[in-house]
Amino acid sequence: MYDIAQVRKDFPILNRMVNNVPLVYLDNAATSQKPASVIAALVDYYEQYNANVHRGAHTLAMEATMAYEEAREKVAAFINAPSPENIVFVRNTTEAINLVAHTWAAERVGAGDRIVTTEMEHHSNLVPWQHVARTNDAELRLMAVGPDYTLDLSDLDELLSPSTRLVALTHMSNVLGTITPVKEITEAAHRVGARVLVDAAQSVPHMPVDVQEMGCDFMAFSGHKMAGPTGIGGLYISPDVIDEVEPFLRGGEMVLEVTYESATWNRPPMKFEAGTPNIADAIALGAAVDYLSGLGMEQVREHEIALTGYALERFHELEDVETYGPTDLSVRGGVVSFYMSGIHPHDISQVLDSFGVAIRAGHHCAMPLVRSKLHVPATARASFYLYNTEQEVDVLISALRQTMEYFGDADARQAR
Ligand code: PLP
Repeated sequence: MYDIAQVRKDFPILNRMVNNVPLVYLDNAATSQKPASVIAALVDYYEQYNANVHRGAHTLAMEATMAYEEAREKVAAFINAPSPENIVFVRNTTEAINLVAHTWAAERVGAGDRIVTTEMEHHSNLVPWQHVARTNDAELRLMAVGPDYTLDLSDLDELLSPSTRLVALTHMSNVLGTITPVKEITEAAHRVGARVLVDAAQSVPHMPVDVQEMGCDFMAFSGHKMAGPTGIGGLYISPDVIDEVEPFLRGGEMVLEVTYESATWNRPPMKFEAGTPNIADAIALGAAVDYLSGLGMEQVREHEIALTGYALERFHELEDVETYGPTDLSVRGGVVSFYMSGIHPHDISQVLDSFGVAIRAGHHCAMPLVRSKLHVPATARASFYLYNTEQEVDVLISALRQTMEYFGDADARQAR
């Protein structure tokens, strides 16, 4: 296990005071903090070798191209992609999913076909499929969330019909922390000839992820949730499907030959990266991958399992607080969504901020799940990362106790 005190020193922002108390950052599912090495990679690019990639023969252009493509190699190795060719740099998970929706799915999901997703998706992995289903006259079906907050696979065989073209599912819920059995679902989907897209926005930052072991066809993730900068993310496209995917954006760099009448496409991944890419942030994502690999993703996962177990124990000491998500820590990530009867989650979040504690309140871009499965308008959510500590959980719990005292007991709160 890594030295947490040492790790915390790598993140300059963790020294910050908020409202005259030390920051306790527990909003990592929204975005993670960045180590100094990632910030330095950004500065180094702009100070030393800022140039466009794949175009120039001068020194700076070659250095930038090398660093950009090295970052792609690092990302590929991090998720065990067969080749860097299978990694497309995009802005974020949302863009990665939309790329697949607007290209592969737009062309290959036809009238009467079926797309299967789940009841626990982030809007990013639901709304694009609603659009494809509507425009292509296809059917959108949902895998249910069971009472233990895991996916109910009992009707998987019925959902995976011969007309199922795509299964799009999250690897880890950003509301419940549920880790889904993607490998099992992928195998079942492939048996009926369906493709599988995995939304790995919450898994790639927090646990070892191996796309070949998982067997998925597409996987989407965001750099900013994995200690990298905003504005950069990845789409993994498997060798089995990559030739079925048409370009999303058309323009410079993605072409091989252009005449006034027509054009032919460059090889992947260039085929999917029209225009000047986000060079600096891709290079800094490479630095984030180096940082995470240095710690070891098994260790990161182990740390978060221990911390989540501790947090749940401490949460259960609080009366009138409901937590959501699986109790089995082997299928749960470091996310604790909770609801205190009679106190709106936004009020909790605001009061916690006065104690320096940053959490998220709302529907977490999973409105249907929160409203129709958890039956609350919103939840508060504490989410952990590799640098959080048990002492920070203690600060959270103590701040929550004081929040409850401030708002009065449950009866008084309900009466208000
Ligand atoms: N999917 C999940 C499970 C998420 O948690 C998020 C962000 O919170 C997203 C998708 C969207 O990520 P981004 O906003 O980086 O595109």
